[in-house]
Amino acid sequence: MATTEFMSKERLDRYILEAAKTAAYEQGFGVAGCDLSLRYWWAAYARQSLREQAENDRLAEYLLTCAKLAKQADVIIPREYVIYDVHTSEDLDRPGIGWLRTELMPRRRVSGIIIPTLGRLSMDDYHRQAFEKECQYYGIRFIYGDAPSGTDIGSMFARSGISLGNYLRVETNRKSALAGNIGRILAGKVPAQKAAYGYIYRVDKIFEPGTGKAKVLRAWWQVDELGPDGEPIYGTAAWTVTQIFIWIGDEARTAYWVANKLNELGIRAPYRTSWAPTTVIDIVHRRCYTGEAEYNANSRVPNPDKPLGDLTLGIKRTLLRPKPDSEKVIFKVPALTTKERWLRANNNLRERGRGRGKQGKTIRALFRTRMLCPRCGKPMSVLRKRGTDQVYYFCRAHYRPWLQNTCTFNRFVPGTWDDEIWGEICTIMGTDTWLEQQFSVELSHSADLEKLVRIEQLKVSQMKLRVSKVQEGWEKGFYAAEEVQAKLAEHRQAVARAEAEIARLQKQMASKGLSPLEAELLRQELKALRDRNLMESAYEEKVDLVAKLGIKVLPSEDLKSRKILCRLNLTKVNDEKEQSGFAKVMLGSAYRIRTGDLLLRPKE
Ligand SMILES: [Zn+2]
Repeated sequence: MATTEFMSKERLDRYILEAAKTAAYEQGFGVAGCDLSLRYWWAAYARQSLREQAENDRLAEYLLTCAKLAKQADVIIPREYVIYDVHTSEDLDRPGIGWLRTELMPRRRVSGIIIPTLGRLSMDDYHRQAFEKECQYYGIRFIYGDAPSGTDIGSMFARSGISLGNYLRVETNRKSALAGNIGRILAGKVPAQKAAYGYIYRVDKIFEPGTGKAKVLRAWWQVDELGPDGEPIYGTAAWTVTQIFIWIGDEARTAYWVANKLNELGIRAPYRTSWAPTTVIDIVHRRCYTGEAEYNANSRVPNPDKPLGDLTLGIKRTLLRPKPDSEKVIFKVPALTTKERWLRANNNLRERGRGRGKQGKTIRALFRTRMLCPRCGKPMSVLRKRGTDQVYYFCRAHYRPWLQNTCTFNRFVPGTWDDEIWGEICTIMGTDTWLEQQFSVELSHSADLEKLVRIEQLKVSQMKLRVSKVQEGWEKGFYAAEEVQAKLAEHRQAVARAEAEIARLQKQMASKGLSPLEAELLRQELKALRDRNLMESAYEEKVDLVAKLGIKVLPSEDLKSRKILCRLNLTKVNDEKEQSGFAKVMLGSAYRIRTGDLLLRPKE
């Protein structure tokens, strides 16, 4: 689960053990080695935002509440079912609660769930209601530490009240924090929030005599940390920031190189357990290191190109966008790098970013996203050897040790494979009988499906006949009431089964089978492609055909052979090619054709 990235498993284990001990319930909270195929276990769920964890970690307290509640309720919570998310409460799109809602609850692998406070579940009352409805539907109990957990009207009403109160609190806190912080900056102080990596937030307060209220005299960011010579001490956060700008700004190193170097040096990463390139990139992007920090400068907005998902999962605010300049306020902090170096570093990162991603695919690789890693099956990435035209495919997972599931495949597939594979595709396409074989297989598959549907339809009518016979027998007094009921139930179940099967087959036909008309259109399209001289196609045409055929390439681990997978069904050609030591062509599903524009689209 993703929590391990932000909280090591050892630390979480320690918290759990401590909570169980303090509650004197070691035999029932966070128990290791439970048989998880049994269903009477309970789960405990806790959540904190990343900021809460970093600034005011209350996980120990939440877990203790859970342990106490488990003891009170006399239920057992296996270690695996102590679930912790490091996410905000704005929506339910978190790995832990997702696992609960899509796995543990629907499969009814737990009998109940303990949540220390309503606010840990969500700040949105609608999410709470959705969660509770799901629990009730699956027959799973829930216990909150700060609210009545019954399903009677009174308890439900109380939970709504508390939940709406939470919402109000979060919103009010957010607004007053914003206003308060802007006021503080105007008064020459830094905003009341955790300082950026490389600094420590410091504050001088006095308690006003009469009222006892705290008054902030001075608030500032202090460099973390300077030696007697006024330079950052080696290995501290400030030193790391300074060094990152030198590496990327002056030496033009990659973020990947820097992350590895920092891990190698054993320097602790902010938030995460180890350095990843994104951690480095985030630091390079922050303006505060030039001495001018920005407050209220950016906000996260949803990506308009992404479809909206489930209401309870929230709208994903994935894009960081600047707020209008009028809302931005600047405050002074000690600089950790110069403006020039900051700009150079950011330019270097931007330049490196070019030629990657969606903006500019400058590396020509015919099977980009289609060459699969023989070990982990993920699409391989493309790189070009510096200063040459040599292109390689490689498994990216292997070079990302910070990922949860790394891959051990470390060989490079040469880009010269592109031409070889293209030649193989041309040979297959040029086979006279090849296209016809595609369609006969495809069409016979459809015919098989139709046959199966007819068999199921026959079963339904037979069963219905039997039902009427039983009813007839009952009226004539041949059967006892129990007998009739048992027989009817049996027949009706059989009818329901057959009808479900028909629905499934029809769905399969609609999505996979080719109708004769569709097949004819596809046949014409592919023949037209074949009749052009494929070997002389332009790169873009090749890309187009590869996409239309839905080609995937799977090399063998020793890179001595490869399979070419195609979305069309190519079984017959398959055997011949294999015998001649040629590329093996595997079967796949079919195409749908939008008849309006004769466009071929692979099935999702
Ligand atoms: Zn791999």
